[in-house]
This record gives sequence, C-alpha cells and structure tokens, in this order.
Amino acid sequence: MPDLSSSPRAGAAARYATDVLVVGGGIAGLSAAISAREAGAAVILIEKAPRDQRGGNTRFADAQMRFPHEADEFGTRDYTADQMFADLMRISRGRANEALIRTLCDNARATAEWLTAMGLEWEQGYPHTAGYRRSPKSGGQGLVDLLFRRFDGMGGVVSYETAAVSLIVDEQRRVAGVRCHSPEGVVDIEASGGVILACGGFQANVEMRVRYLGRFADSLILRGSRYNTGDGLNMAMAAGAAPAGQWGDYHSAVLDARSPKIECGVTALYNYQMGIFVDHQGRRFLDEGEDFRDHTYVKFSKFIVEQAGGEAWCIFDQQAYQREEFARAWRPVGPPVLAETIEDLARRIDVPEANLVETMTGFNAAIQPGAYDLDQLDGKRTLGITPPKSNWALPLDQPPYVAIPVTGGITFTFGGLRCDTLARVIDTRGTVMDGLYAAGEPMGEIFYYNYPGASSVIRGAVFGRIAGRDAAGRRA
Ligand SMILES: Cc1cc2nc3c(=O)[nH]c(=O)nc-3n(C[C@H](O)[C@H](O)[C@H](O)COP(=O)(O)OP(=O)(O)OC[C@H]3O[C@@H](n4cnc5c(N)ncnc54)[C@H](O)[C@@H]3O)c2cc1C
Repeated sequence: MPDLSSSPRAGAAARYATDVLVVGGGIAGLSAAISAREAGAAVILIEKAPRDQRGGNTRFADAQMRFPHEADEFGTRDYTADQMFADLMRISRGRANEALIRTLCDNARATAEWLTAMGLEWEQGYPHTAGYRRSPKSGGQGLVDLLFRRFDGMGGVVSYETAAVSLIVDEQRRVAGVRCHSPEGVVDIEASGGVILACGGFQANVEMRVRYLGRFADSLILRGSRYNTGDGLNMAMAAGAAPAGQWGDYHSAVLDARSPKIECGVTALYNYQMGIFVDHQGRRFLDEGEDFRDHTYVKFSKFIVEQAGGEAWCIFDQQAYQREEFARAWRPVGPPVLAETIEDLARRIDVPEANLVETMTGFNAAIQPGAYDLDQLDGKRTLGITPPKSNWALPLDQPPYVAIPVTGGITFTFGGLRCDTLARVIDTRGTVMDGLYAAGEPMGEIFYYNYPGASSVIRGAVFGRIAGRDAAGRRA
C-alpha cells in the first residue's frame, strides 16, 4: 500500500492511502473490491479475521442465490424480477424499502452473470423451495476463494487481521478513511473515493444482541462468523449515520439442537415440512405446511426459541425418511432417535406418552385426501385440528419413527444503516454521507420479520458491486 508515514509524528498512527477502501471480505466486500478495481481504482480490502478464517458468514453458507432467470436444467422455473420483487415485499409485510428491493431485483441477474463470468459454477439449490434458487457448486467457501483469487489477480491489496475501529471524517464532514487496528499497530488508511462498510451485522456481539433482540438472545447458536460484531454499524452511527430497518429482528434457521454453539455452519433441518414439530409436552405448535420452507424457516426457528421453550422435536416416519431428498436437506450433527412405536418414541425423547399418542393419532386422523407434491403448495391438509397443517400432510404411520432435536440460532441481524440505491449511507438529517457506503449485512431496510430464502448473498453481491463502482467514480 502507498505509505504516507515516512516521517510519522511521534506516537502517530502509520498512514496509508488508496482510492477505495473496503472493510470486510465476505461476498459484499469482495464484490465491492472487484468492481472498484474493474473501474480502475486502487483498492485496499481490510479483513479483521486471519487469512485462514477470511470470508465472513459467506464462507459458512451454501451461498444459494435467488435471481430472475428462465426455467433451466436445474429444475428451476421461470422467475422474473417482478416476481422476485413481489416475494421480497410480501415477506417483509410491505415494510422493506421499495427502491432498494427494486434495485436488488433488477440487478440480481446481471450480478449472477458477472459472478459466472468470473468462473462461478452453479448447481441445483435445495429441493422443494419454490424453484428459483441456484447454488454455487463449491459453496460459500469456494465462492469466497474464487473472488479473493480474482481480486489478488487484479492487483488488489488485502490486509488481514486488520479491523476498522473508527471512521476518519475531515473538516468538510467527508468520510476520508478509516482508523484500524492491525498487526503493525494503529493504522490510518485514507481513501479518496470512499469507504465501503461490508463488515457484517452484530450477530456475534452478545451485548448488542441482548440490547436489540432481547434477553433470550444471549444463548443463541451463532451459525456464522465470530467476527461480525457490529463494528461497521457502530462506527457509522458514531459519525452520524441513520440507523434503519428492523433492529429488533434477525435471521435464523431451524437447527439441529446438537450443533456447535459458534460457527456451526450448515446444520439446519430444511425438510421439516415432511413431518411435524412437537414441543416438550408432545404437542404441535405451528403449521409446518404453511408455505414453502424458504418462506417459513426463519420465523419457525424464532418461534421455537421464543415461544416453544427453546428446543423442540421434529418427527418423521419412514415414508419421509426414505425419500432421496431427505438426506440432502439435513446434514446430521448426530443420529436421529428411532422408535418402533409412538409410546416408545415418547419415552426416548422424554415427552408425555399420552400427549404424543394423542398428537400423532389426532394428526393422522385429520389428514384430507389429495395429491402430495412437495414442489407445489399442494393443499393436502388437515381438517379439524389446531394448528392445522395446510400443505404436505401425510400420515405418520410407517415406523420406525424418527425424531431430531431442533432449536433456533442466529445467522445475521436485520437492523442496519439507511442507504440509497447507490449504497451510499444517509445521515440522521437525511443527507448522503459523502464518501461512505454500506453493502451486505450492514445495509438496513431489506429484511423484516421473516426472510425470503437465498436473498442475502445476492444482496451483498448486488450492492457491493454497485458501491464499488460508485466509489471508484469518485476517486480524486
Ligand atoms: C450457515 C449459513 C448458511 C447460509 N446460507 C445462505 C444461503 O444459502 N443463501 C444466502 O443468501 N444467505 C445465506 N446465509 C447468509 C449469508 O451467508 C450472509 O448473510 C452473507 O453472506 C453476508 O455477506 P456479507 O459480505 O454482508 O458479510 P460476511 O460474509 O459476514 O463478511 C463480513 C466480513 O467483515 C469482516 N469484519 C467484521 N468486522 C470488521 C472490521 N471491524 N474490520 C474489518 N473487517 C471486519 C468479517 O471478518 C467478515 O469477513 C447463510 C449464512 C450462514 C452462516
């Protein structure tokens, strides 16, 4: 990096300069860094983690992405930008920022093609999700490695173990750079084009979790990176940025309850729609077939944590368990509990026997006729029980029964910074903060209450790419 500190004042921080400074090396930061470099800017990317843990949440993910496309060999259906827009707005109950969502949907396809042109190979995403997602063959780790290679090959500079701690704001109130803690001590990096905050949400910061999400949030299993501790959000707000979005909510998934407590990766159970959930009393507590799994897994996981006592059981029979896609939608953390009878299952999972027998026989008796089709909202439902199962209701009558312990966890937080469609951060007076961008998890107003599956990686790629291009255009 260009060194400005040839004769630093005694005790002063070392100083470096670049055109564009990117904070964080996940999908958003890498997309920003590459697009700024493509536009001809000198780029430094700083990453808080050591090299072998680079890649943030992105590296723990399968990194599946939804974007508009025609039906293809992966079994996906036609999916238009308008449909994507409608899905994202509906799932946020109309609260997401329409301009940001429109920008995301209108740019998602071109951004996916941009990744493809860099060498990303795709395969089919999870089955039975509504047919619009694709998955990078090499998962999130492969995606991150591909983009780091690309950035390195373009002459980009990466500084590992370098954490941004505050923004440098000049006399004109322009964001001129970042102060960092690095292996060489305190370092100031100036950036004439801008600083792009792509350093995650606050999910790994237990104090912020409890402050914004509630008391229960201290014990949540952290699915991804330990380094996303809200630094970008805090330093931007300290400089006047406006908080925006749903600070009291977060992304989660229905996890195998035996998952490691931190950085557990993909230990989610994505096939619960083939069975039922019961709580510790052996009672069902939600409609497992309410909608496609992609539109329910986040809210169901929160329901388990906040309302069903923290842990529950997902129960299947052999009709579900023997399906080829069962294994593709659950990477076991441990073996399932198996039992030949409902009574024995109740004993093994320690729920009241009479309750579980009543729940399962009542459920079986309530099932209505109809065709079973996991790729459609098939309307094969129960009648006369509460809660109902609105789709995919098959009787649980083929032992051995299978039970898997489940809980919720935390993936990323919904609260972020107010941004415009160029990913420029807006301050609390409603004006653009000169030189400051946010992309990926630190951007607010995208997700509310729930989460449309496969939307976060593509969100990071789209807005990172936009931010990088815009910042490159502003360089001195
Ligand atoms: C197990 C799992 C599965 C998932 N599956 C999917 C999926 O299939 N599809 C999907 O769309 N989403 C998925 N997600 C969510 C998605 O992966 C993330 O929300 C998305 O990748 C975030 O990208 P990002 O670039 O914003 O942040 P990250 O990838 O988390 O990158 C942020 C980076 O910033 C660094 N950083 C933090 N603080 C600082 C600082 N002060 N200074 C410098 N660097 C800093 C971190 O070390 C990190 O490398 C999944 C997440 C997990 C954990």
